[in-house]
Amino acid sequence: MPSRGLTSLARTARRTSGITSPPASPGGPPMADDADIAADRAAQAAADALARHLRRPRPVGRPTCRVCGDAIPAERRAALPWARTCIDCAKAEERERRCRSG
Ligand SMILES: [Zn+2]
Repeated sequence: MPSRGLTSLARTARRTSGITSPPASPGGPPMADDADIAADRAAQAAADALARHLRRPRPVGRPTCRVCGDAIPAERRAALPWARTCIDCAKAEERERRCRSG
């Protein structure tokens, strides 16, 4: 029986090639590798872009608090480059804002 021989051959080919899942389109030819290659390239490009984004120089922000003049810790500047006050003054301003707004 020729069909049985082909099925057996396909099973053997799948087993030896390490492919465990059946082809995406049963009966038809397995999906072209082009799609896989394109998806891999797109994923790699996205990963590269993300790596570049994470490696970019970060803005350091203000070195000193605009209210009290104390140095703003590097960790705070790294986390909040737009911060213009130290943590204590930021908390005080936040408290004041809450009191004013009720
Ligand atoms: Zn301050």
